Amino acid sequence: MIYFDHNATSPMHPAARQAWLEAVEKFLGNPSSPHRVGSRADAALSEARQKLASFLGCDALDLVWTSGATESNNMTLHHFASSLDGGSVVWLSAVEHPCVLEATKHYFPRRHQFIPVTRSGVVDLDWLREAMAKERPGAVAVMAANNETGVLQPWREVLTLCREHEVPLFCDATQWIGKLPAAGLGDCDFVSGSAHKFGGPKGVGFLKCPAKGRVEPLLRGGMQEEGRRAGTENVAGVLAMMAALEVREAALSEARTEDGKWKMEKGREAFEKRMLATLPGAEVVGANAPRLWNTVSALMPEANCQSRWVVKLDKLGFAVSTGSACASGKEEPSHVIAAMGYSPAEAGRVLRFSSGWETAEEEWSALLRGLIKVYRGIRDR
Ligand code: PMP
Repeated sequence: MIYFDHNATSPMHPAARQAWLEAVEKFLGNPSSPHRVGSRADAALSEARQKLASFLGCDALDLVWTSGATESNNMTLHHFASSLDGGSVVWLSAVEHPCVLEATKHYFPRRHQFIPVTRSGVVDLDWLREAMAKERPGAVAVMAANNETGVLQPWREVLTLCREHEVPLFCDATQWIGKLPAAGLGDCDFVSGSAHKFGGPKGVGFLKCPAKGRVEPLLRGGMQEEGRRAGTENVAGVLAMMAALEVREAALSEARTEDGKWKMEKGREAFEKRMLATLPGAEVVGANAPRLWNTVSALMPEANCQSRWVVKLDKLGFAVSTGSACASGKEEPSHVIAAMGYSPAEAGRVLRFSSGWETAEEEWSALLRGLIKVYRGIRDR
């Protein structure tokens, strides 16, 4: 099987697997236990926290270990709900992940405002600038990179605006971290990440939140994580996550080509060019925006093709997606594609191909051959 669904989840990197196996043997204690077995586990967590803080550029105390980005994102919205003034409105980009979207709707049912995106899927900075000059939101949520389209969001510019207006910025960096350098993200007030998107295990992630302000826990109970998240920490999961992130950050530091592109981009670039030339009506979503080097979201030639294409490609040995894994299975067209101004029929034609660090250029070529084969089968029927 050739796997083109890394935005849904990525296989464990051998270094992460090794770190996990070592950790379950070496750090068997509960990090909260007062004896030395517990202290050793606690010390390992502290070291991991320090490492992550240095990648993000924040204080180690700002970091809370969680079960993944869904929890981190829910925790952030829960915190906003309990800490912002009664009338505060949360502004969120129209292309946020369902776990940000649904948590916002839950905690702020009548007090949220969508920040529009352009046809390319980028947050409309002019809109935001003008709107913030008139009104001050309680908090702003803009993700770093979109899971469906790979489109990068101008979080640095949004951060500058938020600083000017003294508004906290929450950045879901789940798809960015491990694919692009994490440096600088720690400047945002709240940042979430998830290990399984970059070669760590599933079920572990983190939230960067301001250590100096009190953060309202979503999970109550023990005093773990400075009282910000009750529950015994997933020590092996955290250490495996950090082993994977170290591998990715080291690779990123050597992955720029002379023209400022990423080495990993080559296979995808050739794939896009050839796909557009061979499949009539094919279109790359967000083609004019800066995107993650691994993602292609594309309109396929035939209408209502999503599941048919996915099943046919699966039979040919390719795992691809109809959008985000969390959204697939739902009948409604993706809110992300809709926010970019595509019609429901167009949104129904979108497939997502997302490669991984280890994907070879030849695999992109093989995918294109698979697409052409499926297209011919559908066309000639
Ligand atoms: N945010 C984004 C942007 C994502 O892509 C995902 C995973 N699809 C999540 C949040 C949720 O992450 P997790 O699987 O760790 O709960």
